[in-house]
Amino acid sequence: MKVNQVSSINPKSYVFTALNSSKSECTVPEKTFDLQILNKNYNQVSVSFCGTRNASELVKQIPLEDRLASLFQNFRSGDLILTGEDIAKAKKAMYESAGLVKNVIKRAFFVEDDKLEGYLGFVKSATGDTEVINLNQYNINLISGGKNYVLNANDNFYIVPGDVLALQGNMLKIKEEPKTDLSGFRKYFTKAFDFEANVSPEIERLNKKSISLISPDVKKIPSKVTFADVGGQDKLINEMKKSIIYPIRYPQGYENIEVNHGFILYGPPGTGKTHIARALANEADANFISLNGLDLESKWVGESEANWRNLFAEAKANQPSIIFIDEFDAVARSRASHDEYGNKVVNQILTLMTDIDNEADNVFVIGATNNFKALDSAITRSGRFGKHLEVSLPDLAGTKKILEIHAKNKPLDDSVSIDELSKKLYEMKASGADIKYIVNEAHSIGYERAGIFEKMENKALKNKDIENFRITNEDINTALKTFALSRNANGRRPIGFTN
Ligand code: ATP
Repeated sequence: MKVNQVSSINPKSYVFTALNSSKSECTVPEKTFDLQILNKNYNQVSVSFCGTRNASELVKQIPLEDRLASLFQNFRSGDLILTGEDIAKAKKAMYESAGLVKNVIKRAFFVEDDKLEGYLGFVKSATGDTEVINLNQYNINLISGGKNYVLNANDNFYIVPGDVLALQGNMLKIKEEPKTDLSGFRKYFTKAFDFEANVSPEIERLNKKSISLISPDVKKIPSKVTFADVGGQDKLINEMKKSIIYPIRYPQGYENIEVNHGFILYGPPGTGKTHIARALANEADANFISLNGLDLESKWVGESEANWRNLFAEAKANQPSIIFIDEFDAVARSRASHDEYGNKVVNQILTLMTDIDNEADNVFVIGATNNFKALDSAITRSGRFGKHLEVSLPDLAGTKKILEIHAKNKPLDDSVSIDELSKKLYEMKASGADIKYIVNEAHSIGYERAGIFEKMENKALKNKDIENFRITNEDINTALKTFALSRNANGRRPIGFTN
């Protein structure tokens, strides 16, 4: 007996039961199936089918639109239904169109149908819409509310019940529910894949990553330092104004000028590399994200590349911004080719820089180092860190300027001569950090001499003790000696001492 399409039996409803019954007149009893259906009077009648190999063969006779409708009844966000003749081909076509799916696929279903002339995908978007994806290399038509829409190859469109999809010779109606309840038979006409268990940890990981972007684990330092607080680096400051501040303030003036986004500041310790970058961010009214390469290397090992991506994303999201990486050589130092970790980080940084260049973002990255030669040549030669600016020890005029900056709020006695002290500091090859140290050390030595600390200890300090206090030339000379001693102690080179 030929198996008719179940729909052509035209029952009010059909119900499958007792598969593989033996009470058939079929000549091949083991290939006999009973189908109990409800007749028009809602009485169950039994119909025997012969020659159908198994239940899934039998349910395939149910029109595709009903089988799909049965799945739509249970369609959730994150579900994907594929249909067509061959599961491997459907998978391949869907893979090509994966970019159209905006949420994670948690469950997939394949409904085999050899009469459908092509392949279709259905997804339930996060907003609750059902979308059809044309997985074919040809256009199909969507007839909706009496209108015809062309759905291009590998394109998607939302659909509602009542819509009809026309694929070459096939007309497929989208139904909210099938003609009859097929829920007990889905397993016979659907291959189901549940990825929930695999996908959940991955979603959690991605969510955590997104959440971490809200406030990444890096210090954002609001800065009050301005260029007026930087001494002896006028040439460098002018260069940075032209390269960073003006492009941020006057983008219209830089439309035809290639803006460089990567800088390397190099020079002896304590010459003010960090100080200058902070002043720069403040003057440019930019976000300042300050990091230390040494911290990063130990803290981020293992997830380093991802953290660099997060960091740059944060900088991009808060434009204009300046990322300052002190001890840049710790992350970008020259490495052996087998150092997979290091190479990956360097490559990642270069990729992120390329992205900033391409997008013309208002993000500037400044790497600072005391050891320019240690930097990986991939960084120094790539052009991504195209400006290499030397921050050198100050000359005499610069030394005087730095001294004035750090002595500005100090109660100096008339015995102190700024000119003379500047000369001494210059001859000592003192850096900005050294000068700051010496001035503060003199202040502390003066407090000791004037018994201020003692009064603090005895809770006997009066306001006028501070008002009357002065740093004397002797305090300064003692501080210079202390500094020279500490410089020579254990053979270490002093801050800023280059010889
Ligand atoms: P390192 O290479 O060791 O990180 P650096 O070159 O970044 O050092 P800074 O950390 O900027 O030097 O300097 C330390 C402090 O010294 C600054 O906070 C600032 O107070 C002072 N200083 C350094 N250079 C200057 C300068 N040119 N003008 C004014 N102050 C300076």
